[in-house]
Amino acid sequence: MDIVEEVEIECPQCGETFPIDVETTQPRLEFIQDCVVCCRPMTLRILCEPGAVVEVNVAAA
Ligand SMILES: [Zn+2]
Repeated sequence: MDIVEEVEIECPQCGETFPIDVETTQPRLEFIQDCVVCCRPMTLRILCEPGAVVEVNVAAA
């Protein structure tokens, strides 16, 4: 089983989308990610089950 899933996230600041890799071994992830386009930080809250990303929430940090 592939535990790393790629998901597209949309920057709340500039509206661009870009992919990130998510390790699905943890049911809940919360971390700060800098936008690759505008470099502003956002808070990601991601729900996973092993091998799949269930839900992604993005908020300006
Ligand atoms: Zn951005």
